[in-house]
Order: sequence, then structure tokens, then C-alpha cells
Amino acid sequence: MSPDTTKTAIVTGAARGIGAGIAVRLAADGFDVAVVDLDEGATAETVAAVEAEGRKGLGVGLDVSDAESVEAGVARIAAELGAPTVLVNNAGITRDNLLFKMSVEDWDQVLGVHLRGSFLMSRAAQAFMVERRWGRIVNLSSTSALGNRGQANYSTAKAGLQGFTRTLAVELGSFGITVNAIAPGFIVTAMTEATAERMGMDFVEFQKQAAAHNPVRRVGEPADIAQAVSFFVDERSGFVNGQILYVSGGPTV
Ligand code: NAP
Repeated sequence: MSPDTTKTAIVTGAARGIGAGIAVRLAADGFDVAVVDLDEGATAETVAAVEAEGRKGLGVGLDVSDAESVEAGVARIAAELGAPTVLVNNAGITRDNLLFKMSVEDWDQVLGVHLRGSFLMSRAAQAFMVERRWGRIVNLSSTSALGNRGQANYSTAKAGLQGFTRTLAVELGSFGITVNAIAPGFIVTAMTEATAERMGMDFVEFQKQAAAHNPVRRVGEPADIAQAVSFFVDERSGFVNGQILYVSGGPTV
């Protein structure tokens, strides 16, 4: 890709949390950013933060697990912001429960957003990347992919994303497109706050406990994940493909 080409990125689930952090970092790196989330109205704050970095931001409401919604949303992004060459599949949900209490709906919803969602978004976006012979896809896995009590659905989805990542890396590499995944550990967001609430724990205490068991003695922030995304999407990272990077402070002790 020539240096003067406009760079357009899509970040899903970017109204808040890790996605918002990634969107702002990519803007700082010189990308116009489509801020995708379920509710377009909820994207306003992130769009303003992207624009504060001097880039264009476009809030787009779409459901990543719905094929029609994805096709229409990605077409709108291409028309209004530019052909996307970077996609970060970040949208996610949890519906935790022990296996014997897990409903079919909770299983289907979690796999739907993470797996079906990443599949649909990647399929729609890759067409623009193949045409440009350049692209970057980054998927959000999790340390939960290694197994986590109460998360059979989420763990399965996050492990599945690792296979998805390696397979797309093989299929798309010859078009100048790299596909990598980041597996975060504990990151302070609404998602971990909801986990604390479900466990009946104060969120600050929950963070303290997580930090005490972490080799670097702290929990993560969205900026920690955005840093890894920035590396993967960099022009100079073109030989880094099909990798799963754990960004978690190190193995749990
Ligand atoms: P979050 O604060 O809950 O944000 C997730 C965002 O995704 C929300 O704005 C949510 O919208 C949106 N979303 C949910 N379903 C969607 C759909 N079908 N289509 C479009 N957008 C949708 O979560 P987070 O902690 O930032 O997590 C971001 C990603 O990192 C997720 O994939 C998560 O699994 C992964 N991750 C997080 C952690 C952590 O410790 N936080 C650790 C490992 C991996 P609504 O608010 O409308 O639901």
C-alpha cells in the first residue's frame, strides 16, 4: 500500500471498553475509524475521541452476528469512510454459567457474537483488502480459551477464534493480508465489572485479587490491548501472521 493511501479501520464493539481504546489508538496511528457497535447512538463518545486525534470517525450501528446487518454496515463504511483495510473483531459478550445451568440460548448467543460475528465481518471486509492487496485482521481471543470455570460457551468461542485466525492467515496471506489474534487477560472494562457483580464481589477488590495473582502485579487496561493491535496492523509487521499473542501480564502464578 502506498504511503499516501487513506487508511480505514473498522473496530467492532467500540462504543466502550477495549474496542474504544483500540479505535482511539488506531486514530492516533493515522487511521480513519469506523466505530461499530449494536447501538449507533452509543458510539458518539468514541467517534469524538477518534476525531480529537485528527482523523475521521464514523459511528455505525450493526449486529455482528446478523449477516444482513453486517453486509449493509460494511458497505456503508466503504461508501462513507473508505474501503476498509484493517478490521478488529472485538465485539463480545459473556453469558457465564456452570455447564449444568447453561441454557441453549446462552451457548448460541456467545458463539453467535464471537464466532459467527468474526466470520461475517471478516468475510465482508476481506473483499476490500484483497482488492487492495493489503490488509490486517486482528481477532480478540482470551486467556479463557485455555479453560475457565463457568465459561464453557465463552472459552469455546475464544479457542475457536484461534483456529479461525490461523486458517484465515493461511488463506489470505498471499494477498498481503495478515490475520492475528490477541488473547487478553484481566482488562478493566464493563465486562469484568459485570463478572465481579455476578460473583458478589466489589469491583475494586476483584481487581486487587487479580493483580495479586499476576506476575506484573497489576490488571490490564484497554491501552495494553491497543498497543498490541497497533503492532499487528503496522505496515512493518507484514511477516507476522497467524499468531496468537497473550497480553495478560504473563502466566498466572
Ligand atoms: P465490553 O466492555 O462489554 O464491550 C463490548 C462491546 O461489544 C459493547 O459495547 C457491546 O455492546 C458490543 N457488542 C456486543 N454484542 C455485539 C454485537 N452483536 N454486535 C456489535 N457489537 C456488540 O467488553 P470488553 O471487556 O471491552 O471486551 C472486548 C473484547 O475483548 C471482547 O471480545 C471480549 O471477549 C474480549 N476480552 C475481554 C477481556 C476483559 O478482561 N475485559 C479479557 C479477554 C478478552 P452492548 O453494550 O450494546 O452490549
